[in-house]
Amino acid sequence: MTFTTRFAPSPTGPLHLGHAYSALLAHDMAMAKDGRFLLRIEDIDQSRARPAWEVQIYEDLQWLGLAWPQPVMRQSDRMPRYRAALRQLSAMGLTYPCRCNRADIEAAAGAPQEGVPQFGPDGRIYPGICRGRLPSDATDKDVIRLNMEKAVQAARLRSFTETGPGFAGTRQLDPEQLISTVGDIILVRRSMGSSYHLSVVVDDADQGISHAVRGADLFEATQIHVLLQSLLDLPTPVYHHHRLIRDDAGKRLAKRDDARAIAKYRTEGATPRDIRKIVGLPASSG
Ligand code: GLU
Repeated sequence: MTFTTRFAPSPTGPLHLGHAYSALLAHDMAMAKDGRFLLRIEDIDQSRARPAWEVQIYEDLQWLGLAWPQPVMRQSDRMPRYRAALRQLSAMGLTYPCRCNRADIEAAAGAPQEGVPQFGPDGRIYPGICRGRLPSDATDKDVIRLNMEKAVQAARLRSFTETGPGFAGTRQLDPEQLISTVGDIILVRRSMGSSYHLSVVVDDADQGISHAVRGADLFEATQIHVLLQSLLDLPTPVYHHHRLIRDDAGKRLAKRDDARAIAKYRTEGATPRDIRKIVGLPASSG
């Protein structure tokens, strides 16, 4: 299998130094192995995605010296693929529609108890209010959730290989941990037709990604992705979760950190070489 990496930004704001590091690292790792570097636009959240941000992503990445094969995969073009994956999970009896809003979930969650986690990689751990509903009852107002208890029973749980600094090793999925610290994740968000988790596993498989290179903030979500790959019979890539680029106060950069936007460095006369230096990558682009 060709060593294949990807950079998968959401066009919901300007790319900043953290994105530059992620894209350059994924690119350099692929080039070092004579592999392929792919781009994917993660625009399933059409309420936040903007064409202008997508254009700027291409400009910034080209300016950084990166190139990628065309056509670029865009999640908004792939809804039928996500629906098919959802149908597969529903046919296995693992999904249910959920109409709870945030307030319902907060109320049912009750007071925090010592030692019981309240939040997982998909947000607040869902207390199971709608778990008895049938997939056939779903309406437009519902999200679709994965029944985690059934999912871990149905799956032949895999291990995955992690090569990122601080995480490296073989990681085994733990069914108890998935139930108690992740819970019934959302597979289809309201008016989105999919979710980050469902789309990312289907897309990584369809793009033939052998090495998923991304920020350490997504390490905890990886157990969800490997579970879904196990259920959907999709390949599991090697994961490389890299360090996050932080601001001077040590906080990780967010989309609204315009001060660290690549576009800002460009207009101020920085060179791509400067950006590599700032994020701590060698000068050569491979
Ligand atoms: N679209 C995600 C982001 O912008 C990255 C997803 C991934 O690399 O798996 O943070």
